[in-house]
Amino acid sequence: MDYVKLINCMRCGMCLPSCPTYKETFLETASPRGRVALIRKLQEGELDQSERLLEFLSLCLDCQACASACPCGVNAGELVAEFTCEKKSESGLGFMEELILRKLVPHPDLLETSMVPMRMYQKSGLQKLVRTLGVLKMFPKPLERMEGLLPTLPPRPLRREIQEVTPAVGSERGTVGFFLGCVMSLIFSDASRATIKLLSMLGYRVITPRNQVCCGAPNMLGGDLEGLKEAAHTNVDIFGGYSVDYIVTDCGGCGAELKKYGHHIEGEAAAAFSSKVRDISQVLALHTEELHAKLKPLQQKVTYHDPCHIAHCQGIRKEPRDLLKLVPGLEYKELEAADACCGSAGTYNITRPEMSDRILQRKLDTVRASGADILVTSNPGCLLQLKKGLADQLPAVKLMHLTEVLALSMSN
Ligand code: SF4
Ligand code: SF4
Repeated sequence: MDYVKLINCMRCGMCLPSCPTYKETFLETASPRGRVALIRKLQEGELDQSERLLEFLSLCLDCQACASACPCGVNAGELVAEFTCEKKSESGLGFMEELILRKLVPHPDLLETSMVPMRMYQKSGLQKLVRTLGVLKMFPKPLERMEGLLPTLPPRPLRREIQEVTPAVGSERGTVGFFLGCVMSLIFSDASRATIKLLSMLGYRVITPRNQVCCGAPNMLGGDLEGLKEAAHTNVDIFGGYSVDYIVTDCGGCGAELKKYGHHIEGEAAAAFSSKVRDISQVLALHTEELHAKLKPLQQKVTYHDPCHIAHCQGIRKEPRDLLKLVPGLEYKELEAADACCGSAGTYNITRPEMSDRILQRKLDTVRASGADILVTSNPGCLLQLKKGLADQLPAVKLMHLTEVLALSMSN
């Protein structure tokens, strides 16, 4: 770990009000400043590694809200993630981590096959019965949480049905590569279908390589830096085989990770790959006039939740808002603390249910106060978390991906 990154913290405390875990606990050890200090003391050998200390570090969501607030460029979330990776490289992956991160996640075919039982569970009506009878209460809590978060799966993953080349509508202005996020393809395929449609309507030929693999974000989350590097090498090689203007993604988490490939692995190819990565909102925002001409009225009130991986990790805030404001009739209402984490954070909502629920509750309260009919966001983790939260507390509010709103307005 780069020691300089640790000593850059001048302990001003400006990051504290933006940290979700500090807001819930008011504990210095659960704040960005405290986490940086803990890692520093560990590195300097002034503290011994204890379970309690690791507990405070692992309570971090890696939302990186602290990085947006810090005047010194300190990123406590990233430092905690790096620390976790270092610890993991010393201890090695556990059996289940090895199985999931190395044997399952990097293989889209296997990943898709692993979802077949879930699809059957839903299609057969068993899920409805299990939920009605409350059977899951008899199973371990994490299993109950996972089941509760799972929305209705589409009949097929998008990767299995999307054509490798989607032609441009009208005259072709360029070619983009489309990065299919695993969760987007498996669960939110309608949103990615809308993304591809928008790109092609704007004159882009869209190439979606079928052999692309997971971006590696789950590996990073699990402290598996080697697994992340393998994913990066594979994707850089695959997309390097096409001549594209941009590599577009509609998944905030994937975009944040893909943009860091140039940092994770050496070589010009990785740097070139990362320099071409764009969140879909960045590409659509280049064509607002054309889009505006195609959009038809939607008489609804909308608000937007900034995914941490889009706002804090990629610095994209204006584009999604500008795009929503393009839709005629759509009343835009800014959400209070729109860029505060929703508590999803990868598997945090399963491993840290109590803290995750507290953070989610704050978000739901702001959505309720906004009075919006539609809540928009652009990251699968947020979509999963907010879908569950809205279903439980605000069932009248519809949750949509940004591209679904624009495609809906276009087809009205
Ligand atoms: S991490 Fe940044 S904002 Fe927080 S205390 Fe340190 S210097 Fe200040
Ligand atoms: S990444 Fe998020 S949870 Fe972690 S210290 Fe920073 S603000 Fe707090």
